Amino acid sequence: MNELQQHKTANGSFNGPIARCVWELTLRCNALCCFCGSRAGTARAGEFDTKRCLDLAREMIDLGLEKLTLSGGEPLLSKSFFEIAKFTIARGVRADTVTNGLMIDENMAGRIADLGLSAISISLDGPEEIHDRLRGVPGSYRKVMRGAEFLDKRGVRVGTITHVNKINFPHMDRLFEDLKQSAFKIWKVQLTIPETGCADSFRERVTAEQLPAVADLIRRVQADGRLHCAGGHNIGYFGCEELTLRTRSKDGPTAWGGCAAGRRVLGMTSNGGVLGCLSLLTHDERFIEGYVTDRSLTEIWRDPNSFAYNRQFRPEQRSGFCGACRFLERCRGGCINQLAALDPEMKDNPLCLYRVESSQRPPHRTSVRRPPSAVYVVVDGLRPDYIGPGLTPNLHRLMQDGMVMNNARSSAVWTMPAVGSMLTGMAAHRLGAIKWASSWRNAKTDLFTFLANQGYATASFPFFPKRDVFARAAGAR
Ligand code: SF4
Ligand code: SF4
Repeated sequence: MNELQQHKTANGSFNGPIARCVWELTLRCNALCCFCGSRAGTARAGEFDTKRCLDLAREMIDLGLEKLTLSGGEPLLSKSFFEIAKFTIARGVRADTVTNGLMIDENMAGRIADLGLSAISISLDGPEEIHDRLRGVPGSYRKVMRGAEFLDKRGVRVGTITHVNKINFPHMDRLFEDLKQSAFKIWKVQLTIPETGCADSFRERVTAEQLPAVADLIRRVQADGRLHCAGGHNIGYFGCEELTLRTRSKDGPTAWGGCAAGRRVLGMTSNGGVLGCLSLLTHDERFIEGYVTDRSLTEIWRDPNSFAYNRQFRPEQRSGFCGACRFLERCRGGCINQLAALDPEMKDNPLCLYRVESSQRPPHRTSVRRPPSAVYVVVDGLRPDYIGPGLTPNLHRLMQDGMVMNNARSSAVWTMPAVGSMLTGMAAHRLGAIKWASSWRNAKTDLFTFLANQGYATASFPFFPKRDVFARAAGAR
């Protein structure tokens, strides 16, 4: 069921809440990042004043807003920054911000600390010479590090966001060393996608083959324990490190659940443009659903035809590897911004860890000359809706290396005959497995006997005292 079916009212409008909004308060910016997807620098024509912004914030709160990210351009250059933060926080919204950090001196750190933001993230894209080069501002690395220290001294928990690309990727271990010595406590790693409107001269995206190394970086940082580290939405999906990449809530990490743009998330430009996610702005007008200068935000959000690419998602819209992928219903092809950038028809996402790992698996077992060892694991009582990368990660890894039968059915509803059926290939009533101590008297053969006849030693390792009856019944040596 897609969001529109889930949240459609009797009159046809959409009634789901806005869980999060990322709001570009201004397009003005004091950095010159060579990969900037917003192409920030000067203010947009018609940027809203503070009064208009506060009206909009009120409307967002009425639509259920829980979390607001104040963004830009550089949000600290906006005259409305402090007013909107105070207004929304006072009404129970969790507000945070993402800044380039160039304006954070001692005084600014104090003002930010007094606001009570739930988080502040400062961009840092490499060790000193790499960061300064990518951000186009000499001395910016030092300013960021000092800004983080000022905030830290004022008791603000400060994080950093790194955009990984081909230029800075080889320097990530050095940045990691720098961060360990710094005031930063959180590190978010995401990919630079040059195809999403970066300057024409910047084409340095990491390749799909480098994705496992990015995931491994996140795993290593987590294992080190000094920084909380997670991947951004555009790193994934459903590879062996899926849960490692995701942000940890108090209930632990949750596997990727598909792009939330327009489903629960909203992007707002500084002149009232409404998108499902602010990052989609890199596709110019393609994902703009309307302007609040023409129709109210409520009308746009509630319109059943808005954000159709996500609210009306159907698996048939993808093809190629994504189209045949077993995770498609949940994944939906990953980050929509990335998908639309790499495949304008939005059919198939090549930047996917599951895809890369699938292509790197060892050849099928029939090509192995020596007979392989075989382990047959039976787990009783698992419910299909309680299996998945988020709930049973080890089982999930095992499934990824094996063959999964989605329509296998047990021939009986209780364990003894069901296991007998699995080990002998016979329906339970033909097998004669009726009581715990029954031998499978009618079985012509069974898996253990078959393997023993092939020269294997067989063994059973029950984890429940009575269960070895299965192995004995089937003749495991
Ligand atoms: S192949 Fe496509 S649908 Fe499957 S996990 Fe990767 S991005 Fe998602
Ligand atoms: S477009 Fe990408 S960044 Fe935006 S909400 Fe969707 S997954 Fe997240």
